[in-house]
Parts: sequence; structure tokens; C-alpha cells
Amino acid sequence: MTTIGRNPNTRQLRIVDGQIVRDYGPANSVPMDVSRKHVSMQSAGNGKWIITNLNPNNVTFVNGISIVSKTVSESDKIELGNSHYLLSWDALSEPKVETIDIGNLKIVWEEYNQANMGIRKRQKNIGLLASIPIGITMLGGLLSSLAPGNLKPFAYVFTAIALVVMLYGFYRRFTDNSIEEQEEIKKTFQRRYVCPKCGHFMGFTDYDILIQNDSCPYCKTKYKK
Ligand SMILES: [Zn+2]
Repeated sequence: MTTIGRNPNTRQLRIVDGQIVRDYGPANSVPMDVSRKHVSMQSAGNGKWIITNLNPNNVTFVNGISIVSKTVSESDKIELGNSHYLLSWDALSEPKVETIDIGNLKIVWEEYNQANMGIRKRQKNIGLLASIPIGITMLGGLLSSLAPGNLKPFAYVFTAIALVVMLYGFYRRFTDNSIEEQEEIKKTFQRRYVCPKCGHFMGFTDYDILIQNDSCPYCKTKYKK
């Protein structure tokens, strides 16, 4: 059963369907002679409804004639109160369920992961660059200890190469801006990985997990599947 009346605060039409409360129309559109619980509407099937005045003081018209209870259909004109507030049949129809498409967030999530992976790869390479000179120096040391004296110049060459690689490694480490880049990637992600409806950041949640929910956890708008 649906109860129809006036929202006392906003003076919109208030439609109560069990647990679901809806307000219809602009504020202050419902006159004061429509009571808070004015009529009830009960579906009688085949597009017919039984409209019933909920209080003897309430005034309800169907096609201009005052009624207490009457079976009506969409072709009937229902007016509430002495000022003949016209009850729109649109007000009674189920509100359209709005859905949001979060498909583009999949790309945002993938781009975020790819960018992070690129940085991790670079950091790994820089780390590797630091260990190469150690290997070269060790090899040089080994050669010079095993080899006869006339191979000593090779050891110097090895040491020189190790030094150059080490300096290059220092340079790469010094000029590396992966921390700043990581911060930038994170910021961009937080700006883009948001609900298209309410703009709330979805968190660092895998898209595949996100889409397992039915709706945005913040505005509750349902996802289009
Ligand atoms: Zn939302």
C-alpha cells in the first residue's frame, strides 16, 4: 500500500511505499490543505488502484467529485484538498533506477599498475648497477692474484671500468626522480579512480574487486553491469 501526503518540511508530495519514502515535485508545491497522510493507493491489478481518504477531514476529488474511496485508473483525474492539488500519475510510478558505468575505471587501474611497474623496473636496474662494479673489481682482484705479474695491467683496467660503472650508478641514483614520479602517479590515480556519480575516490582497490560490488559504497548508485 502506498500512502500519499505532504512532506511537512519541504511541502513536496510525499509518497511512502513500505520502507521506501520518496518526495515528488518542487518544494512548496503542495498546499497546506493536503494533509501529511492524505490518501492511500492500493493496486487492484490491471492498472487499477483503490484510492482511499485516510482521514474524514481530508478532501479528495476524482474527476471533480468528492470521494471517500474509489477505484481509479490513469485516465482519472485525482485532486487533493480543497485547493484541488492535482495528483500526477508520474508521482506514483516507480522511480527510475539510475545506474553508473564504471567501465573506464578498469583502464585507470591498469594504467596505474603499469606506471608503478615501470618505476619498480627502473629502481631494480639502478640497484643492479650498484652491484656490477663489485663483481668487476672482484674479478680483477682474482685475476691479478692468480695471474703472473705481466697481467697486472688488466687488473687496473678492471678497476677503472668498475670505477666508471660505479660513478655512472651514483649519477643514475642521484638523478633518479622515481619517488616524485610515484607521488605524481598516485595523485593522478586518486583524481581519476573515482565514482562517476559522486566523485568519491574508490581507494586502492583492484578493479576486479570493485566491480564485484553492486553499487558505489559512498552514494549507493548501482553499477551498470
Ligand atoms: Zn558514488
